[in-house]
Amino acid sequence: MPSVDRQGRGRAAAALPPGGRVCYDTGVATRPEAAVGLVPPPATPSGVAAVECLAVSRRFGPVTALDAVSLQVPRGEFFSLLGPSGCGKTTLLRLLAGLDRPDSGEIRLGGRPATDLPPHRRPVNTVFQSYALFPHLTVRENVAFGLRMKRVPRAEVERRVAAAMALTRIEDLAERRPARLSGGQQQRVALARALVNEPEVLLLDEPLAALDADLRRRLQTELKALQRRLGITFIHVTHDQEEALALSDRIGLLRAGRLEQVGPPRALYEHPRTRFVAEFLGACNLLPARPIARPEADRWRVETELGLLELVGPPPPTDRETLTLAIRPEHVELARGNPAAETDAAGWLTGRVLESVFTGAETRYLIEVRGHRLRVQAPNPAGNGPPRAPGETVSVRLPPEAVRVLED
Ligand code: ATP
Repeated sequence: MPSVDRQGRGRAAAALPPGGRVCYDTGVATRPEAAVGLVPPPATPSGVAAVECLAVSRRFGPVTALDAVSLQVPRGEFFSLLGPSGCGKTTLLRLLAGLDRPDSGEIRLGGRPATDLPPHRRPVNTVFQSYALFPHLTVRENVAFGLRMKRVPRAEVERRVAAAMALTRIEDLAERRPARLSGGQQQRVALARALVNEPEVLLLDEPLAALDADLRRRLQTELKALQRRLGITFIHVTHDQEEALALSDRIGLLRAGRLEQVGPPRALYEHPRTRFVAEFLGACNLLPARPIARPEADRWRVETELGLLELVGPPPPTDRETLTLAIRPEHVELARGNPAAETDAAGWLTGRVLESVFTGAETRYLIEVRGHRLRVQAPNPAGNGPPRAPGETVSVRLPPEAVRVLED
């Protein structure tokens, strides 16, 4: 295959911007829905994953960018690859786009072997972070470019370009050049240029990263709505955990080239398997603990720096002498009444507020309890009085049902 740079541009396709070169003609003209716009991709046989990685590894010299990654993404899913810088997200996306080859393992797209397929023969399109629009072409010409290169009949080009521009709401910008577009508008053009090819899978490499926070949130909502309408599979790379939680049907959290945990946002957030997952996805209090009683049914006790805690759920294997507990700041209860009225027997602990940060909808506290610092987050409902101030004595409680036991 031709050599490619990190943005995905190949020498053989130097005249094309990255998003415009990975194309796939699905034969849309033969399908009746085509008359009303872009159509859902041809059905991948039921039960067959749209994207499948089987023990995929990629090394760059001494660096193992991907280490035996196995993953199945069903058709129509919004899947986010999430993880810190350098964990292998872009490497995996490039392997799926065909811009790079794995050292070992297999890639299947729509149930068909794809490891050795060149980019233009894959049913995928990529939207890169740097939209890489042609500056000398108008928006309409940018969107049409890939289809023109493939010599798609003129009438069909016009119809598909109009549909893609309507979907991404850029019709009013059709005759403008990229230099006269805002970041959000350029992002929409890049999306339209990818969608006009009617891919089965859309690969998105941090497509919103260059935008300011407000616009980013608005486009997140649009992106999600667009994916639902089209029903195509989105594989979205991001290092922004809030974005992944907000958009995804499922998230794959990568750590140093390995998939640490895969699941729906809520499952990952509420049931993190490891410290890494607990801390990467939102804030989390970690607490070392020692089981002290033989597990009985689904209630058992542990000894911690905060004293004895009762936990619910399946007990850990009996051979584990120490455990790490995790509890989210918003799950720690903060007593509103007089702390002295609460009793240890009910699980309430006395603490002292070290920090109190008002953030509008909620207040974030750092509370010292028996020498341990707990992060606590509490809503600011109307009429609840001012937030607790530093130095105040408060009562906190760790509800047993909110405490998780981590594997490491
Ligand atoms: P970021 O969020 O910063 O973009 P990422 O999760 O996308 O990071 P990758 O770009 O996939 O990470 O890189 C994974 C690892 O592989 C990193 O250590 C990176 O330096 C290395 N790497 C990636 N591409 C190459 C290359 N072409 N040559 C050498 N090393 C590479």
